[in-house]
Amino acid sequence: MHYNKVICVGRNYAAHAAELNNPVPSEPILFMKPATALVPFEEPINLTNLGDNVHYEIELAVLLGKTIKNADAVTASNAIDGIGLALDLTLRDVQQTLKDKGLPWEIAKGFDGSCPISAFVPVDNLNLAKLHFSLEINGQLRQQGHSANMLTPIVELIEYASRHFTLCAGDILITGTPAGVGPLQPGDTLKANFMNGLLAVETKVI
Ligand code: ZN
Repeated sequence: MHYNKVICVGRNYAAHAAELNNPVPSEPILFMKPATALVPFEEPINLTNLGDNVHYEIELAVLLGKTIKNADAVTASNAIDGIGLALDLTLRDVQQTLKDKGLPWEIAKGFDGSCPISAFVPVDNLNLAKLHFSLEINGQLRQQGHSANMLTPIVELIEYASRHFTLCAGDILITGTPAGVGPLQPGDTLKANFMNGLLAVETKVI
């Protein structure tokens, strides 16, 4: 499938909101990355020209297979084509400066290569309330997420997003990061895992 825009959710896990000293939102916080942000997960992350505070955020990614608008729960659920893993790479210093000024943080989030994306596994045999995933860096567990801990669950996120934007076949929703984010260093090796190896992807930082 040809990938399209990436819709992202901020602060969808309470523990991550807390680690960045952000309040838990009362409704989803959405922002977008353009299709040019997408790169294969395995492509090395090149920090050149990105500054020295590029944060990793591992997230569950949802691929949409249908075009929907104002979707109800059934329509939203039926539009899911697959589940994968994404990194929401973030220029944390740039984002903080923009947030402090009350400005949109797009340039900290939407730059070329800011969304490494894995393959997608079919959703058919998956329970959306029981999806778990993790990120190891240099052999150390850094992030662990479970969809049961999302403040807004996947189908409700799709419903909500579809009330604001038409969601197209090929759009990807990345569903927020659990706690444990931090800066990448040249030489780091990242291993991401979904459902005990149903999906396993890795990349390195140069
Ligand atoms: Zn994120």
